This record gives sequence, structure tokens and C-alpha cells, in this order.
Amino acid sequence: MAATVGTGTTAGGDAVQAAGTDLRNVDGPLGVELKKNVKDAWWRAMVHARKDVVGLDSAILQRPEVWKASGHVDGFSDPLVDCRECKARFREDHLDDAVCGNKAFNGRKATKCRDAGFFTEPRQFNLMFETHMGPVKDSASVAYLRPETAQGIFINFTNVTNSSRVKPPFGIAQIGKSFRNEITPGNFIFRTREFEQMEMEYFVPPDEWEKWYAYWRDRRYQWYVDLGMRKEKLRIRDHESDELAHYANACVDVEYEFPFGWSELEGIASRTDFDLKQHEEHSGKEMKFFDDQSKSHYHPYVIEPAAGVDRATLAFLVDAYEEEQLEKEKRTVLHLHPRLAPVKVAVFPLVKKDGMPERAHAIEDDLRRWTNVFYDESGAVGRRYRRQDEVGTPICVTVDGQTAEDNSVTLRDRDSMEQRRVNLDALEGELRRSLEV
Ligand code: ATP
Repeated sequence: MAATVGTGTTAGGDAVQAAGTDLRNVDGPLGVELKKNVKDAWWRAMVHARKDVVGLDSAILQRPEVWKASGHVDGFSDPLVDCRECKARFREDHLDDAVCGNKAFNGRKATKCRDAGFFTEPRQFNLMFETHMGPVKDSASVAYLRPETAQGIFINFTNVTNSSRVKPPFGIAQIGKSFRNEITPGNFIFRTREFEQMEMEYFVPPDEWEKWYAYWRDRRYQWYVDLGMRKEKLRIRDHESDELAHYANACVDVEYEFPFGWSELEGIASRTDFDLKQHEEHSGKEMKFFDDQSKSHYHPYVIEPAAGVDRATLAFLVDAYEEEQLEKEKRTVLHLHPRLAPVKVAVFPLVKKDGMPERAHAIEDDLRRWTNVFYDESGAVGRRYRRQDEVGTPICVTVDGQTAEDNSVTLRDRDSMEQRRVNLDALEGELRRSLEV
């Protein structure tokens, strides 16, 4: 599957990888389209389709003061243990699925190494990547790569409220890279050190937080369902009170049942007024909202849906994948929602003669104005359909002998494999309807 769509090549594994290996995160030509479509679907649902949310693109590098205020400098850490026997490192709170790094033990569970007394005492390991700004490397020049996009939204709260006509309830949304020096990256692109987040901070009057928390929990679950994810593979899990982050008074995770078990896709947290108050205190700049009707200043409460682009992409891929047994053969098919499919339409001439390639190229060029098209004339047409099924292309358009006679083409549907004829004059409308664009 990975090879087919080609997104992400992080080497998995439970033990810490050699420096640099997981920086090979890369999206191949189809993977980059898939991820872009996930981000576009999120932006469309969270920003364009709403009157109450605006977008932002804040800085990746931030001064330590920002991360001191948010609590990341002091508290954004995981417990790290070393195995004296195999020299691997583990996250102490993620031992259940971890495997010993010593090949001689042949996949032995890390918990056995722990029980055998091989582990060191846990040390708190801060996950932020540190760097320096400017030519002089001293403590005054320290900066951090953001471990989440959210803080960039909080520190720009006043900029947005001063420059846009927004008032609570309203949201600020952002998609961008975040960086965490994870102790155990792995499970393909589920956990990497460089990843993308889609986060929205929704600012509400304090007495309305419960209503909006319930609203966003339901909305965010529904987003995955609307994009075709199977409900039986999705669940909402409430955080126990001892699991809550220091800034939250309530939190749920949307989880997906991956082949490696139920795991978090997204968290929806009620962050109270913690962040705005913290940044106000540390920066000395007031971060209240002024309500010109009641003439009062107040700190809004915040509901935050925080999703991972890479995790959502992986879940959509896993969920869409099928090896379907047909009468005479097995076909591999990705049932991706049309809005997520990397290629929307494939155009084929039935054979490479009688003017069919020229006609097919003309259709390709015409469709390229508004969608992502793939042209293919090599091999039997059945083989070409299969190749498109494997990458999840919802519709194939085939030019054949009849096209020259009556200006019609064949439209072939990925999921049902049914074919029907459509006049070229109606093609764009038909495709737009089927692709839901
Ligand atoms: P986890 O418990 O899995 O480490 P988290 O609860 O720390 O995740 P958040 O801080 O809530 O994650 O981040 C919001 C979202 O960002 C997560 O739900 C996930 O989709 C994504 N995310 C977080 N860390 C990573 C990572 N290392 N690699 C890929 N995606 C990530």
C-alpha cells in the first residue's frame, strides 16, 4: 500500500533509530497529492465553509519565553528508559507494544527486559528541538522549533482580533509543520519527529464552553465519517482525569483502529483561558477580548480540535485499502473518497491508433484546467483500470471507436466497476457531480 501511493518512508521500530533515519520522511508524487487533499478537506470544512473561523500561518521558530508561558519548557517531556542489555531506548509509558532492540532475542517484548531488571531509572526527556537564532550561539539566542501550532495562534490572538471583525464564538485555524524529538518514532507515518498538524482554537464566552466542547467533539468525529471512514473503525475516547494535560479541564480523543491497535487521530480539548492568561502574564500585554456591546473585557475560553495530517492520511489509506476477490482474479483497490483521491480522473485511448490518442489528449487538456488528470495509453485497457484502482482514481474515461462517431466516451467507476457512456458535452458536469467538487 505504501509503495502504491507512496506517502512517508519513516523506518518504523520501537527502539530509537540512528540519528537522521527518521528525517527521511518524504511524500512521493501520489502521497503529496493525498496529503494535500486531506489538508484541503480540513481547511474547507473548518474555514471556508464557516463564517466564524479565520486562517493563520504563524512562525515555526519561537523564543523560549513563548514555550515557558505555554508550559512546554518545564513540562513537555516523556519518560525515557535505557535498556542496559540491548542498548535500546524506550518511552516508559509506551512499553506495551515495544520490542527489544537486540536481534538475538528475536522480537522479545520490551516489558520482559524491564521485568528482568535491565532498564535504567526513567529520565524526563524534553521533546522540543532546540536551535539558535542569529550568528552567536549562546543562551540568549536559544529558540525552539514549535512542537505544536497552537501557541502561534494564541500569541497572535490580539493581532487577529484587532485586524479582523471577529467576536466570540470564533476560531483561528492553522495547518503547519510541528517538530517533536520523539523517543520512539514508528508505525509508518503514525509517529514521526517532523509532522504536520491541523489545529483550530475556538474562542468562546466562558459560560458557553461546555456547549462548544460537545459541538466540536461531534463535528470532528463526523468529518472523518463524511470523508468515508468506516464508523466501526472510529471511536471517541474520553480522557481520564489523571490523563488531562495541565491546560485542560476536559479532553476527548478521536481514535482509529489501525492494524497496530486503537490509536489517536485527533484530540479535542477544552483549554479554558489558560493559554491567553499565561501569555498575558509572560508578555505583559493584555490578551482580553473587548466586547463593545457589554463594554467589558474578558478572557475567552478555548476549545481546541487538534488533528495530525499524517495520522489522518494513514488512517484514510488503511481504511480505503481492499484486496477484492473478483470472479477470476483479485484486484487491489483504494476506496478513497473522491475529494481525497490523488488522481481524480484517468483518461485512456482504447488503442494507440485511429486518432484515439489525439482525442484522449484533448480531453486530458480540457480536464486539466480544473482537476488532477492522469493520461495512460500503455498496455491493455483492463490493466490500466487496475493500476488506477490501486491508487484510488474514482473515474476512468476511455476514448474508443464510437467516440469519433457520436462524440461519446466510456466512464468507468472505480468501486462498482460499472461503465456507462456519456456525451463529451456533458462530461465536465458528470465528473464534477461524481467527484463532489
Ligand atoms: P501522542 O499521545 O500520540 O503522542 P499527543 O496527544 O501528544 O499524541 P497532541 O499534542 O494532542 O498529540 O497533537 C495533536 C495531534 O497531532 C495528534 O492527535 C496527532 O494526530 C498529531 N501528532 C502529535 N504528535 C505526532 C507525531 N509525533 N507524529 C505524527 N503526528 C503527531
